[in-house]
Amino acid sequence: MRFIADMMLGRLARWLRLYGYDTLYGVEDDDEILRIALAENRVLLTRDSGLAARARRLGVEVIALSSNSLEGQVGELKKRGLEFEELFPAHARCPKCNGPIRPVPKDDLRGRVPESVYQKYDEFYVCENCGQVYWPGRQWREMLRIGEKLRRV
Ligand SMILES: [Zn+2]
Repeated sequence: MRFIADMMLGRLARWLRLYGYDTLYGVEDDDEILRIALAENRVLLTRDSGLAARARRLGVEVIALSSNSLEGQVGELKKRGLEFEELFPAHARCPKCNGPIRPVPKDDLRGRVPESVYQKYDEFYVCENCGQVYWPGRQWREMLRIGEKLRRV
C-alpha cells in the first residue's frame, strides 16, 4: 500500500516512512493531491471530510482519520490492517523525503558526519535520495522509545 497524506498529517507521514510505508507528503493543493493519488494509485490519508468525499467520488481509495494525535492515528490505521512492527532501519524510507534508506560502510562517511559521531558509532545508514545520514544516536533512541509506545496502541 502506498500513501499520500494531506498537509495536516506531517507527523504521521514521517512515522509511516520510518515503518517502511511509501508515503508522499508536502503537496499543498487538494487538486494536485487527488491527481497524484489517481496517477500513482496511492491511498489518500486525510482528516478533511470534504477532501475525503471528493476523493471517493473520483475513485481514489481513502482512509479518513479522525484523531489529532499520532497514537490515535496509528490506532486507526491498525484497525485498517496496517502493521507497525518493523521500525527503522529495516525496509524504512527516509522520514524527510520518502527516499530509500541503505546501510553504508563507515569508511564512506569520514568527513560527512561530525568526528565525535564517526568515532562513537559503527552503524550508519544513508538516504539514497537526499543524502541524509542516520546513526543510532540520541534521536534514534528517542524514535525507538516512541516506536515502543506505538506498538502497544
Ligand atoms: Zn531523504
